[in-house]
Amino acid sequence: MGKHLVLVGGGHAHMVTLANLHKFVEKGHNVTVIGPSAYHYYSGMGPGMLGKIYTPDDIRFATKHVVEKQGGTFVLGKAVRVDPGVKTIFLKSGETVSYDVLSFNAGSYVPLTNVKDNGKDIYSVKPIEKLIDAQARIMELVSKKKIIVSIIGGGPSAAEIAGNVWGLTRNYGQNMPAIRIFAGKKFMSRFPGNVRRKVAESLTKRGIEILEQGYVKEVKTDHVTLESGVSYNTDFTFLALGVKPSPIFEESGMPTGPDGGLLVNKYLQSPKYPGIFGGGDCIYFKDQPLDKVGVYAVRENPVLYHNLMAAVEGTDLMPFDPGGDYLLIFNMGDGTGVLRKKWILFEGRPAFIIKDYIDRKFMKKFQSIE
Ligand SMILES: Cc1cc2nc3c(=O)[nH]c(=O)nc-3n(C[C@H](O)[C@H](O)[C@H](O)COP(=O)(O)OP(=O)(O)OC[C@H]3O[C@@H](n4cnc5c(N)ncnc54)[C@H](O)[C@@H]3O)c2cc1C
Repeated sequence: MGKHLVLVGGGHAHMVTLANLHKFVEKGHNVTVIGPSAYHYYSGMGPGMLGKIYTPDDIRFATKHVVEKQGGTFVLGKAVRVDPGVKTIFLKSGETVSYDVLSFNAGSYVPLTNVKDNGKDIYSVKPIEKLIDAQARIMELVSKKKIIVSIIGGGPSAAEIAGNVWGLTRNYGQNMPAIRIFAGKKFMSRFPGNVRRKVAESLTKRGIEILEQGYVKEVKTDHVTLESGVSYNTDFTFLALGVKPSPIFEESGMPTGPDGGLLVNKYLQSPKYPGIFGGGDCIYFKDQPLDKVGVYAVRENPVLYHNLMAAVEGTDLMPFDPGGDYLLIFNMGDGTGVLRKKWILFEGRPAFIIKDYIDRKFMKKFQSIE
């Protein structure tokens, strides 16, 4: 008898499974995909979309369409909890979905703990689709006056967002804003000095300010306050702080890693509930904690697909090998990039062209299914 496979989130780690969904259906299984949007946005091109290098259509996958076209069911909604005892997922809407085999690729979110008022003109960098609204609002504000754009966070997404706000307003805005990054105590602190310097230089030479005076305590619509009590005016603020895995697992009392991500073994499988799998930012890979980067979600794809098929068919699982160092290219928003792999480091137009080529190729591969 066929099994019911349920995918929560159509993120980067589910791409290959989604592309091969018809194979589950052909073998007599039912597949349901739950997601809060009919589309999934590719985060690697998100800052470029903010900067109008890409349109929203360039960077999104039509998840609902791809699922339904292959004979699956798409449920528009947000999963909030799972009860593995009765194999049921609970949605925010109150709906429930039961499963035999379940896979999570529900990503991560930016915690809003520092936001102290109604949050007007404060945008988090995830979900990526929010950057469409952020872009429209920035354009509206800069059409009236010179504004201050603040970016809270000192990692690569803060750098890319700052660079692309510069690109957006430089190419399409009426008034150039002041752009300020609140980078905590050290900008790009996870990276070696030479990478940090190249990224910082690219931004500061365009007048983007990088503050390293300490952590932000409070964000309101019109000001940003540091832990030291020093306050700065702002008109528009991005939250690009470290992400946290989807809260579903802690809500459900499931075994998690220290970051709250779904604990998975080398088969990307919950050690306690063998019918539950996961990939991407929402998991905690027990053998070797992984950075929250799309690269790992993409690498997990074939293993997750194989193991979900094995779980419904009753065949052998295959282990995931995270692989070695990965290529990182930052889109600096002015047509240049900073590329780093192991000891190779360079910046400029060629770095951006390589990133653009890789990202467009990835999109084309999965958009072609549509
Ligand atoms: C601005 C920015 C730029 C980045 N650039 C890069 C880059 O260039 N390279 C790189 O490797 N990494 C990059 N990252 C990191 C990258 O975004 C993540 O590692 C990657 O998105 C993880 O993929 P994912 O599929 O696990 O999660 P997501 O991309 O967040 O996808 C999760 C999916 O699940 C859905 N979902 C969420 N909650 C629920 C729910 N409760 N129920 C059902 N569905 C749900 C969402 O709608 C979404 O479709 C960037 C991050 C940001 C914020």
